[in-house]
Amino acid sequence: MGGGLFDDCDLVGLHNGDLLQTHPATRCAGQFCSIHNPSDHPLNTRPLNWRGWVMERTCPHGFGHPDPDDTAWRRRTGRPVRSAHDCDGCCRRRQSDTGGNPEPTP
Ligand SMILES: [Zn+2]
Ligand SMILES: [Zn+2]
Repeated sequence: MGGGLFDDCDLVGLHNGDLLQTHPATRCAGQFCSIHNPSDHPLNTRPLNWRGWVMERTCPHGFGHPDPDDTAWRRRTGRPVRSAHDCDGCCRRRQSDTGGNPEPTP
């Protein structure tokens, strides 16, 4: 790569075809990041949906759940946190709940 235009950011292709300009992976190295290093949460493989100021994960039922790694980052950096959302429970459910031992989420 050698464009130079986007030296200080990454362009990420979202599942809906949009390009999202975000921070470089170096900036979140060693931390969970909804884009570069998702934590182990139930929706961490679901499509990301950038709503303009909050990152969501779209569950198989079409609900947008705030990405917990984005939420954690907002808390760390003092940004507004959106927690209320139309929720069918997918963001609180373990992916392995079809047969594993569900872990309680605080
Ligand atoms: Zn769902
Ligand atoms: Zn939810």
